[in-house]
Amino acid sequence: MTTIQQDHVVTVHYTLTDDAGVTLDASDAAEPLAYLHGHGNIVPGLEDALTGRKAGESLKVAVSPEQGYGVRDQPVEVVPRNAFPADAELEVGMPLQAQHPNGDVMVVFVEKVDANEITLSGNHPLAGQTLHFDVKIVGVRAASAEELSHGHVHGAGGHHH
Ligand code: ZN
Repeated sequence: MTTIQQDHVVTVHYTLTDDAGVTLDASDAAEPLAYLHGHGNIVPGLEDALTGRKAGESLKVAVSPEQGYGVRDQPVEVVPRNAFPADAELEVGMPLQAQHPNGDVMVVFVEKVDANEITLSGNHPLAGQTLHFDVKIVGVRAASAEELSHGHVHGAGGHHH
């Protein structure tokens, strides 16, 4: 049976909980997540733990922040609410694209929403957290040439385009 390795499409059901056991995320019961192994589609710690495993296996993995969404070492900035259009719907955890003065586009996350101020953070909302994954491997197959050129999975559980 095919084992999980570089350039394979892996289909998993997963539940992600925090240190307190609160569910942060989970795969859709009807459609498991499909990702391309070895391409940074999922956090490094989980990808490492899945390498060499087979369909039908289940595993529990605790992923450190360093191997997950990073430590909280990115800048946090408070900006006036009126720096955004009045009708912009700003929600905690929402990713925004910000233009750096040097022209680079970077992703920042809305960390706090107050009446007059918005706190923006370069840290992922799950940065600094240990991630507890409970994973069941549903399928493993070699990726197509097209999937490899795009860097993501096509079809069920992946991109539709
Ligand atoms: Zn594609």
